[in-house]
Amino acid sequence: MKTYFECIDCKTEIPASVMVNRCSSCNNPLFVSTKTPDSVDNIINLGQGNTPVIRLKRIGLEFGVSDLWAKLEYLNPTGSFKDRGSATLISALHTMKIKSLAEDSSGNAGASIAAYSAKAGINAHIFVPASAPSVKVLQIAFYNAEVHRIEGGREQAAISCSRFCTNHDIIYASHNLSPFFIEGTKQFAYELIQDMDPIPDHILFPTGNGSLLLGTWRGFSDMGLHCPKLYAVQSELCAPIVSQFSGKELARHSPKTQTIAGGIAVENPPRLNQCIKAIKTTKGQAIAVSENNISTMQSKLARLEGLLIEPTSAAALAGIPKLLDQGYISPSDRILIPLTGSGFKDTLADNTS
Ligand SMILES: [Zn+2]
Repeated sequence: MKTYFECIDCKTEIPASVMVNRCSSCNNPLFVSTKTPDSVDNIINLGQGNTPVIRLKRIGLEFGVSDLWAKLEYLNPTGSFKDRGSATLISALHTMKIKSLAEDSSGNAGASIAAYSAKAGINAHIFVPASAPSVKVLQIAFYNAEVHRIEGGREQAAISCSRFCTNHDIIYASHNLSPFFIEGTKQFAYELIQDMDPIPDHILFPTGNGSLLLGTWRGFSDMGLHCPKLYAVQSELCAPIVSQFSGKELARHSPKTQTIAGGIAVENPPRLNQCIKAIKTTKGQAIAVSENNISTMQSKLARLEGLLIEPTSAAALAGIPKLLDQGYISPSDRILIPLTGSGFKDTLADNTS
């Protein structure tokens, strides 16, 4: 069956191509059409997916929730949830015999794209903000990708990357935009059905571009199943999705006050409206949490549960007490947090309060 891209905003259908990320009619990022499921094979495979789900009993007790679970996404081959998306995207590029690509990332996506490119024999250029954690940058370079360090934050890295692609006629393999990347992240939803019975009432995502949140939404839709309530959790220092959702103007980003949750420091997520749609359709919420709470949750996960994760992942956990207070979550509800990135390659917050 021929694979199509669909625009969920204006309903345009376009033949799938690695050259295309946006809708030709309305310019919104596209999805692989749900009419052609399972049409993209993961030929390039590093053993991604099938991550364990474990119960967080001690932290749950502290929050006053009795049914809290985590899916250990950081156990993917490159240490983050990005690998399912990269597997599908790089497989599509490999099938089309693409030999070079460029991508911009705060670290995890860059490392993931670099690893799968190495496996496929593709020459990868990864554009990272100068502030990206040095271990992540080292990881990208170690896969033999060419690292381009860009001053001025995440947004500037994306602009430089896009310009580089135009100037050098190289494929822009953006994990933020590519429909193939989102297609890969849908596997998260398929796995959940195997992992948990009953499925969770609530799933809280640390959200920058929202690729895992959107993949989960699309995955449940593919299966024709009721989707859990989906929540976007952002840092108070960079909360464009929360701003749009709540109608209140919150911080987007300031280079002087960068969040420690670098993976979700995205000022202008290209799929912002699609994230809002997924959250509203599933009756979820978008909330912002403080830097202090993010640090505290990161250390609590290590001290109470033995899990070493990056600050970005801890942001989702910090959303739970807030949602309990506001009555969106009840103490006996089943809650799932994807722990998206490893603590081995990011800041370990010095906050043990
Ligand atoms: Zn469109």
